[in-house]
Amino acid sequence: MMPEWMSQDFELFDTHAHLGDDGCPDEAAFYRRAEEAGVPWILLCGSDFESSRRAAEFASHFDRVFFAAGLHPLDIVKHPCEAEKFEAFAGAPRFAAVGEIGLDYYYERDTREKQLEVFRSFLSLALRLDRPAIVHTRDVDGSTLAYDDAYRLLSDFAREGGQFVLHSFAGSIADLERFDALGAFFGCGGMVTFKKADNIRALALRYPEDRLLLETDSPYLAPVPFRGQENHPGFLPWTAHSLAALRGWSMEKTVTLTTSNAKRFFRIPPEDEKLQ
Ligand SMILES: [Zn+2]
Repeated sequence: MMPEWMSQDFELFDTHAHLGDDGCPDEAAFYRRAEEAGVPWILLCGSDFESSRRAAEFASHFDRVFFAAGLHPLDIVKHPCEAEKFEAFAGAPRFAAVGEIGLDYYYERDTREKQLEVFRSFLSLALRLDRPAIVHTRDVDGSTLAYDDAYRLLSDFAREGGQFVLHSFAGSIADLERFDALGAFFGCGGMVTFKKADNIRALALRYPEDRLLLETDSPYLAPVPFRGQENHPGFLPWTAHSLAALRGWSMEKTVTLTTSNAKRFFRIPPEDEKLQ
């Protein structure tokens, strides 16, 4: 049974989804499931060269699916690749952003110097290709080193005209405020529905209305009531519903606002313009 607030007429935008390690055996079924749940817009994120290539291939088959190409900080050692090689994606249909890139000191603190070097090179790629960046930042508990490092690099990036989203943002209120001052977009995902995630809800209450994006980070982090299951863009309405309740917004307002923010961020022209 679908909850009464669900509607297939939503036009939600999942701004951060992955295809998973095995790719997507049935693209049409994957997309239909999202569309039927009211999530026709999807941005597929690469995490290394190969997954970026698969995201590009998938996006080329659906009008409202876009992709980002990048090297995730946890893939730097496993799947090393120069930023320059990713310039090959520049001409691909529906190439919308550089990502997922960033810093992860939670799992890999030893590679900090390498992570900084790679992050910097992908931020300059984003400037060269004139695309926004999708940024992952994760600290060891009790440390702010990753956010401090990211702040330094992203300050330079923003000063040169770069735009970025902090996806699945889980920093402090002070982090939110300093990145907000750089014009950051913030990605709100399934964690906002988790019982114990009061810190995430405190952040979600403060995201600037005009720079707030919704995301699943599928196949990870499925929202309540699907925790433990493989996540899918089709679960995004539950995250949207949680955010709406938290902010005191209607579902209509939540959908319209976050989808138009996403289209502005990824610079997707209105659909009727494309026909001209
Ligand atoms: Zn991700």
